[in-house]
Amino acid sequence: MNGATAAEPLLEVSGLRKAFGGVVAVDDVAFEVAAGEIVALIGPNGAGKSTCFNMLMGQLAPDAGTIRILGRETVGLPPRRIWRLGVGRTFQVTATFGSMTVRENVQVALLSHHRALRNPWRIAREQFVELADGLLATVGMQAHADRPSSVLAYGDLKRLELAVALANQPRLLLMDEPTAGMGPRERIELMALTAAIARRERTAVLFTEHDMDVVFQHADRVMVLDRGRLIAAGAPAEVRADPEVRRVYLGSRAAR
Ligand code: ADP
Ligand code: MG
Repeated sequence: MNGATAAEPLLEVSGLRKAFGGVVAVDDVAFEVAAGEIVALIGPNGAGKSTCFNMLMGQLAPDAGTIRILGRETVGLPPRRIWRLGVGRTFQVTATFGSMTVRENVQVALLSHHRALRNPWRIAREQFVELADGLLATVGMQAHADRPSSVLAYGDLKRLELAVALANQPRLLLMDEPTAGMGPRERIELMALTAAIARRERTAVLFTEHDMDVVFQHADRVMVLDRGRLIAAGAPAEVRADPEVRRVYLGSRAAR
């Protein structure tokens, strides 16, 4: 049993803290994300968003606090073990193998996922092709399957990255600025796609994003980080109207 029931949050964070020298990057942060919920973590540059993500992914050890994913305490686990719990991630810097085709990139991800499961039903090569093409269709990349990923346009690379993350059948998707470097239309499209997949699969999604249109269109809940502390959390409309949030973050942006 790995202990998770439907009522339990998929991700539970409490008392999370990380300092770099004198800078407290993340300060006593606590929140939960439930299955099927899409939650945005926003805040000014240097607020501590990436530091939070790095701790959730096991790349950075917190100074204090607990992280539970599907009921399992993950502090101290290496990234690979966290990934095996069913955590998918996309990187701010795209991480695909350029020399491989688009399809091969997804196949590699599928292969390591099924190996990690120690799947007794040895999945055949052909099945991986079908599964890979299914995932590529999901992200609208089927037409690019045979192209080397090194020739893809930036937005297509991000969609491939999403397909690679989905190959792990994630219960929780962690996305640190998934649309960084994309144009406004592409941003909206990628998040709309992510949201549609998340709702269908009941995947929990935690993402950061600078484009407030994207945030307020797709997030069920928004959390605002400022200088390491969560200063607000709630429904998008509530957070948008919060005077403190407007002062530290939204005020300088075109928030409607
Ligand atoms: P955000 O992603 O919200 O822009 P970060 O989490 O990257 O913010 O950074 C939060 C604070 O921690 C910043 O002051 C940043 O300079 C500092 N910081 C982040 N990573 C490191 C590091 N590896 N070493 C020293 N300081 C860091
Ligand atoms: Mg960051």
